[in-house]
Order: sequence, then C-alpha cells, then structure tokens
Amino acid sequence: MSGGALVLFSGGQDSATCLAWALARFATVETVGFDYRQRHAIELDVRQAFLQELRRGFPTWAEKLGEDHVLDLAVLGQVSETALTRDLEIEATASGLPNTFVPGRNIVFLTLASAIAYRRGLKHIVTGVCETDYSGYPDCRDDTIKALQVVLNLGMESRFVLEAPLMWIDKAATWTLARDLGGERLTDLVVEHTHTCYQGARERRHNWGYGCGECPACDLRARGHQAWEAAAA
Ligand code: ZN
Repeated sequence: MSGGALVLFSGGQDSATCLAWALARFATVETVGFDYRQRHAIELDVRQAFLQELRRGFPTWAEKLGEDHVLDLAVLGQVSETALTRDLEIEATASGLPNTFVPGRNIVFLTLASAIAYRRGLKHIVTGVCETDYSGYPDCRDDTIKALQVVLNLGMESRFVLEAPLMWIDKAATWTLARDLGGERLTDLVVEHTHTCYQGARERRHNWGYGCGECPACDLRARGHQAWEAAAA
C-alpha cells in the first residue's frame, strides 16, 4: 500500500479545501464523488470545473492529481426521504436533526471510498466532515469516523487512515486553511468554482461564492466567510 490518498470530493467548499490539504501532503491523490440523485446535481458539475481549474492554477499539484472516480448511488435516494433527495422544504424533524440529514450517507460514502482505496492501493481516505459548526449530523462526528476506521480496517484487513482535517475547525478557519495551502489563488478558486447551496442556486454571486443566500448551507458559508474577513482585517 502506497502513501497515496483518496479524497471524497463533492464539489463543496469543505471537500475542495480537503483536496488541497491532501495535495500538499501526499505523493499521489485521487478523488471520488457520488451521484445519489441529489435534488440539485450542480455540485457534480462544478466539481469537474474545480478539478480543471486546480490543474491549471497549480502545476505541482496537477502532477500528483490522479484519477477521478464518480459512483452512481441512486439507491441512496431510494432509501431516504430528505430535503436533499426529495422535493421537501428544509425543516427540523422530530429527531431534532434537520431533514437535510441523509441517514447513512457518510457511512456508505466512506465504505465505498475504502473499497476504491483498497483497489487503488491508497492508504489515506480524506473526508471534509466537521464536528465544530455543522448541523449536528451524527455521521460527521469524530467518534463515528474513528469507529468506522476500525471497522473498515478489520473488515478489509487493511491499514487505512481516515483523515478529517476539518473536524475541529469552523468555517472561518477553513478559509484560513485554504489560504495557507494555496494563497489567494486557491481561495478565489473556492469562491468561484465550489458549490454549497442546498437550493442549487448559482444565479447570484456573493463575495463568498454562489448561492441563494438564504438556506442553512449558504448562511453557514456566508457567516464563515464574514468571520474570516473580519479576522484578517
Ligand atoms: Zn442557498
């Protein structure tokens, strides 16, 4: 098994920053994305543009950036009834979690990613999950990721390392991390070519990127960017 990495790259701000983090660390980096019939498949489109621009803007990273894997996970849309996979309003559910929570999603993603990593001989599996300022998704928690690492290694007799570089930092610190890794060229790339909005809107450009500006994902991204700018001023 080489020291290479597989990054779960959705096309959002967090996973884009994780991709840069991996490229700064590992000799070879591959990416994986999942088509689970998200209501707004825009993330899947922007991820291609981001990869292209990343290759163009960062030649030393381009040399390390290998294959991009896209997996069809339509089955996830079939088993879950959530605001990301059905035409529902975003709201809190009886469990206290927002209905943007897709049960099992990250567990399925990481399990399938590890199967690809196994085949490709990649040791590090990088995910943008974060416990700090997320919506309380239980599959983004540190304990879930650590437990899953044990399960995957036992079940595949491997020594994968699940890396979650954003686990303990907030959205403002994620912008700082991106700037530290790739300067303004990278933060500009994140603004222009990543997508976070739950509504799939890209008509309006804000200083933090494109989106409706009102959904919880836009709100979180906007507040993070604002805090980052305030701290830098
Ligand atoms: Zn939005």
